[in-house]
Amino acid sequence: MKKLVVAIGSVKIGGDYPIAVQSMTKTKTRDTKATIRQIRGLEKAGCELVRLAIVNRDDARAIRKIKAAVKVPIIADIHFDYRLALQAMDAGVDKVRINPGNIGAEWKLEEVIKRAKERHLPIRIGVNAGSLPGDVIKKYHHPDAAALVETVERSLEIFSRLDFKDVVISAKGADVRNTIEAYQTISNRFPYPLHIGITEAGPLFTGALRSGAGLGVLLYNGVGDTIRVSLTAEPVKEVIAGYEILNALGLRRVGPILISCPLCGRAEVNLMPVVREVQKRLRRYKNFMKIAVMGCIVNGPGEVREADFGIACGKGIGAVFSKGKEIRRVKEDRLVDTLFEVIDENIDN
Ligand code: SF4
Repeated sequence: MKKLVVAIGSVKIGGDYPIAVQSMTKTKTRDTKATIRQIRGLEKAGCELVRLAIVNRDDARAIRKIKAAVKVPIIADIHFDYRLALQAMDAGVDKVRINPGNIGAEWKLEEVIKRAKERHLPIRIGVNAGSLPGDVIKKYHHPDAAALVETVERSLEIFSRLDFKDVVISAKGADVRNTIEAYQTISNRFPYPLHIGITEAGPLFTGALRSGAGLGVLLYNGVGDTIRVSLTAEPVKEVIAGYEILNALGLRRVGPILISCPLCGRAEVNLMPVVREVQKRLRRYKNFMKIAVMGCIVNGPGEVREADFGIACGKGIGAVFSKGKEIRRVKEDRLVDTLFEVIDENIDN
């Protein structure tokens, strides 16, 4: 189902808008210096929406100063205390996320909706498997897909009663299959854009894979308007992982894609440090381009020809390719430098 368009500050999601990549700061929001530093790092990495945890009045107060220092739209993440949502909106936040599992009595949610309406701000109904309302857990026993969907449905009733349509929905669980099922059902039933993610996905490697599995299925099936890859790692890594997933599926074309061979007995070069070095140097490029790093001259040249730039390594020597053609042959210790000279000669970064 095509989704309604929701504007979060300068960023629009839903409709035909690109799938936005977002992350969350891991600082105490009231520590404005650290929070602004982290948000600037996220902006540099291409993060399009940033969420902040608002756990007390000092955090809510800090929003004004943070907003003045950054460009990216800011989302206030609210649990338990609806008054913090009101305060965050008054302080200039671009969107509020509330958790219907812990916001409490209906009238509190109504207060939040009324204020958002006055200020023309969107709200995300952020259902989380770990904090479903008590009676929902009682009914379903486990936080399975049906429990997530019912929690979303109930909140939406309150939003429709107040004729509020500036809604984004999420229904995250740590269980990948449950989460996929819940999002698919929600996407079929409701016209609101979806924020998708696997919650508590884990540390960098595991979390990126679990998110890739869950988000990959959803995005491939057209479900999802903004993504967050939740990792127990620096937030910038979440943004890198988010773009990797979207680039892999051909849904965005942001930054370089690195292709490298898995290595086998034919390799005549220690490829791992070469790949690490290429990956490190690629971080400063914003252009969408495919870079291939291959370990031998058997399959290497064939694969490299499909990329925009690349290297195929031989014994002590390697070939550098640009747009499918071998253009230089250099000694192994000059390969990476030469690759980047060629890239820089051919692109506007
Ligand atoms: S490119 Fe060469 S070294 Fe790498 S996996 Fe293929 S055959 Fe092996």
